Amino acid sequence: MRKVVKFGGSSLASAQQFEKVAEIVHAEASRRYVVPSAPGKRFRKDTKVTDMLYGCYALAEQDEDFSENLHQIEERYQEIIDGLSLTLSLADEFAVIEKNFRAHVGKDYAASRGEYLNGIVMAAYLGYEFVDAAQVVFFKENGEFDAVKTNEVLGERLQNMENAVVPGFYGANPDGSIRTFSRGGSDITGSIVAKAVHADVYENWTDVSGILMADPRIVDDPDTIERITYNELRELSYMGAQVLHEGAVFPVREKNIPLNIRNTNEPDHPGTLIMERFADEEISDRFITGIAGRKNFSIITVSKTGMSSQMGSLRQMLEVFEKHGVCVEYTPSGIDSVSFVAAADKAKDRIYSIVGEIRDALSPDNIQITGGISVVAAVGRQMAFKPGTSGRIFAALGKAGINIRMISQGPDELNIIVGVNNDDFESCVRVLYNSFVK
Ligand code: ASP
Repeated sequence: MRKVVKFGGSSLASAQQFEKVAEIVHAEASRRYVVPSAPGKRFRKDTKVTDMLYGCYALAEQDEDFSENLHQIEERYQEIIDGLSLTLSLADEFAVIEKNFRAHVGKDYAASRGEYLNGIVMAAYLGYEFVDAAQVVFFKENGEFDAVKTNEVLGERLQNMENAVVPGFYGANPDGSIRTFSRGGSDITGSIVAKAVHADVYENWTDVSGILMADPRIVDDPDTIERITYNELRELSYMGAQVLHEGAVFPVREKNIPLNIRNTNEPDHPGTLIMERFADEEISDRFITGIAGRKNFSIITVSKTGMSSQMGSLRQMLEVFEKHGVCVEYTPSGIDSVSFVAAADKAKDRIYSIVGEIRDALSPDNIQITGGISVVAAVGRQMAFKPGTSGRIFAALGKAGINIRMISQGPDELNIIVGVNNDDFESCVRVLYNSFVK
């Protein structure tokens, strides 16, 4: 058994958190490759080291004095080193960083030092070897991640290493300079390492015990999702449930490596297991995996008698949206009418031009614009096997007096989406949760 374990910033914010991490790593010999983030927040109003580095470099770039800011960052690491009673000194590292900041080597280099230094501390504490991500994670000339080269070099490098710490979030450009992934990108590094070493599991350790079935700001104490497929996760993330960096899914999914979200502060909790599919899964009573939604959509409904038999009408209308750079997310339709659902912030400046052009192109009987719509999705792989799911959804919402403004079901039967007024958004999520989960 071979596991890659990635720890997020809050899991590594202090010496005490490092101790928990070491206990987790040492609890299983299979936890051989560790990917750390930079130290995150120790308390709610604290600042992440990555943000301190961005701030510090902004001063350096303007040739202002940044010594105090850099010193504060050094102190964050020193506190961890002292708390763990390590003899390690980062003085030389900080001297190099200071020199490079003065030489304006770049914002990405600056931000990456959070993970780089944390990797050095982590390796010293665990007694594992440190592998600088700049030597094993690569980007192409155009800035894209170079998956082929990375997999080859990283795989070869780790092949004969029993244990290693590979810092997250960054790699190297073809000229050797540092490039980072977008924020939260250590999740991606963990996934890349898991792929390169053919891991059995990629464990992503964070500060929540997995993915919740609904937003806890809306639903009181929602249950954790025990198992979710990548497709379901994609649906839920798209609808606003933020758990993992989106780019983290691809490398492990490609190799069918399960991804397990775990909680550093509650290590006995099994968390959420994400897989391509769950073989031999029994049909359970709980066929909704999760509920998520987004506010502020507009619906443009076009009606014209005989529209369904008018060749090319849908294409013509969609072309108008495309021309204006407005992405249409859903298109529920009737015989002689079709609705286009788009995010209001994208559509708002263009909506009257779009309506005018559709009118010119199709001479419809009526065009109606409805604003202030929220879209809520009930997502679940088991829905396809269960007759009556949508009936239950609509009955529950009806009973709660929530007016459904739009209905859409994905062709893969993975979700049922309802549009409701923005004012009904929170109660819609709660009603769905209570009628399916409780
Ligand atoms: N430290 C980086 C950030 O704050 C990357 C990460 O934590 O994944 O975004």
